[in-house]
Amino acid sequence: MLVGHLAAGLVGKRVAPKISLGTLVLAAVAADLLWCVFLITGIEQVRFVPAATTQNSLQAIHIPYSHGLLLDLVWAGLFAGAYLWRRHFPRGARVLFAAVVSHWVLDCISHKPDMPLAPGVAGRFGLGLWNSIPATVAVEGGFWAVALFLYARGNKPRNRAGVYAFWGGVVLVTAAWYNNVAGPPPAPNVVAAGMSSLVFFSLIVAWAYWMNQVRAVPAPS
Ligand SMILES: [Zn+2]
Repeated sequence: MLVGHLAAGLVGKRVAPKISLGTLVLAAVAADLLWCVFLITGIEQVRFVPAATTQNSLQAIHIPYSHGLLLDLVWAGLFAGAYLWRRHFPRGARVLFAAVVSHWVLDCISHKPDMPLAPGVAGRFGLGLWNSIPATVAVEGGFWAVALFLYARGNKPRNRAGVYAFWGGVVLVTAAWYNNVAGPPPAPNVVAAGMSSLVFFSLIVAWAYWMNQVRAVPAPS
C-alpha cells in the first residue's frame, strides 16, 4: 500500500492534532523505510517475477524484520517510547504506536499471502487486494479520499503553500500510487528499487513535515 498508509497518517492528525503530520506519516511508513534499508543492505530479500503490474512483480521472499507483526510491534514500541520521552504526551504516543502497527494490517489487506508474523515462523498472511486493480482503486483509493476529506476539513491552509504544495503533492502521490497499482513492471533491480523507494518515502515524510507548517487547525472563533 502507498496512499493507504498516508491516509492512516492523515486520520491520525484528526485524532491527535498536536502531533506533527510528518511524525504521523513517518510512523505510518516506518516499515517501508526499514524495508528499503534492509533491502539495500541484504538483510531482507525480494525478487522480481513476471507480472502484469508493478506491485505484483515484487515477490517478498524474506521480510520478517520490516514487515513481520512481532518486529512491527517492537518498532512501534520504540517509536512511541521515543516520542513519549521527547514530548511527554501519552495520548500522542498511543496514536503513533497504532500508526506504526497499522502498516502491518493495511499491508495484509493488499499483499498476496507474504506477510510474516515473526522471524522463523512459517505462517504468511495477505488478502490479495492488489490482485484486482478496480478493487484496489475502490478500497485503498476510497480510504485515501475519505482521509483527505477529513484532513482538509480540519487543517486549513495558512498560506499559498498550504494550498498549492498540499494539493500538488496529493496529485503527485496519487499518480505514483496509480502507476504502482496499474503500471508496467519496473526494471528488476532489487538494490535500485530499495534506493529509489527510500528517496521516495523520505520525500513524502519531508513533505508531510512541511505541510504541518503551512496548514493548521484553525483557532476557535
Ligand atoms: Zn509495507
